[in-house]
Amino acid sequence: MVDSKQGQQEQATVLGVGVGDEMYRLIEELYPICRSITGNGVRETLRAVHRLLPIEVYEVASGTQVFDWTVPKEWNIREAYIETLQGERIVDFAHHNLHVLNYSTPIDRDVGLEELKGHLFSLPDHPDWIPYRTSYYNENWGFCLTDNQLRTLNDDAYHVRIDSDLSDGSLTYAEYLIPGESAEEVLISCHICHPSLCNDNLSGIALATYLARELEQRTNRYSYRFVFIPGTIGSITWLCRNQARARNIVHGLVVVCVGDDGPFSYKKSRQGDAEIDRMVLNVLSHRDQPFKEIDFYPYGYDERQYCSPGFNLAVGSLSRSSHGDFPQYHTSADDLTLVSASNLQASLDAYLEVAEGLEGNRTYVNLAPNCEPQLGKRGLYGAVGAQGEPLDTMTILWVLNLSDGSHSVLDIAERAGLAVAEVQAAARALCESGLLAEHSA
Ligand code: ZN
Repeated sequence: MVDSKQGQQEQATVLGVGVGDEMYRLIEELYPICRSITGNGVRETLRAVHRLLPIEVYEVASGTQVFDWTVPKEWNIREAYIETLQGERIVDFAHHNLHVLNYSTPIDRDVGLEELKGHLFSLPDHPDWIPYRTSYYNENWGFCLTDNQLRTLNDDAYHVRIDSDLSDGSLTYAEYLIPGESAEEVLISCHICHPSLCNDNLSGIALATYLARELEQRTNRYSYRFVFIPGTIGSITWLCRNQARARNIVHGLVVVCVGDDGPFSYKKSRQGDAEIDRMVLNVLSHRDQPFKEIDFYPYGYDERQYCSPGFNLAVGSLSRSSHGDFPQYHTSADDLTLVSASNLQASLDAYLEVAEGLEGNRTYVNLAPNCEPQLGKRGLYGAVGAQGEPLDTMTILWVLNLSDGSHSVLDIAERAGLAVAEVQAAARALCESGLLAEHSA
């Protein structure tokens, strides 16, 4: 257990090596599982996560009322195919989980071509890709196939079989809490309901898992709550069951699409200027890489629920490509080739940098506020910080000038156009020299 800021950052560097490969391996393991918003695929996924992180798994019965919604029946599927009347399989769920409309009701009969076409989904613009389609709240059956496959269907009728069941069961989700010095919580939320799609959102599951493994080795000021939930109904269910607890959430991020090679994107919380919004934008704007800043809009991922007006939590979403904004989105092309260990690693590093920024976003007071203290006699000109980084004199002057008990590290960083991490390093050096002390609110 390490409790100094210095120790924390050294740890991040050491643990960082190879963690991208481990995240990628978790994605490879989870990719073949057919997930949905309920059912055994979600449980199997959470069992795999549990090997790495002792998450608590919860089951909420079908029919449970959660705000304006009802926990749906549980869906499980064994096989699904379309075959010619001669028994030749044209489309087979065994070949790809996306081939079946997610939440399809069972069927086992011959179907005329025209009726069948009303239940088929393809992507004419990408004739080799299988789309991902769901029908959670409207009972229906269907298949998704490549447009090339669709164009081979010329028989008058086909045999269609979907061996699934939609019956009373439960919705499964998981949580993991890393207690900190404070009861105030940072929420990290990822969705676990997509079958065989890597960027959206096996990458999110992998990042949340490894972020938790890293943070649990540190002594943290904040408590960190990780939730692994089916999209929409899962966050609604979690919020409904945890209304009091949700009031402890002071910062949060929805982890999605963090494995592709798109530039970072940050969708701000509904508040728009919350500390998490400012912190993420500070981290991204000092990485010397282009990034996208997206204003909150009431669509996308589970931030929609966390940012509903009754909660209005400071929850944004840090991703690479953003919701719906990459051609492979919700198609079979969101596969193991779209994500990479190095992109996952860089995304994890960005999340850790944000967490470190939040942890160290404190307010200080200058203990020698009457004119500038003499830096030279304290060895602070051209000095080197605790982690061997050069300390910039202008940064030190900004910290001394603005540390009047009313400016946080983030305030100083924004005012001076500096990265939060640089301001934190200067503040540590000034505290060690006796010129600065943390302001007790
Ligand atoms: Zn999605």
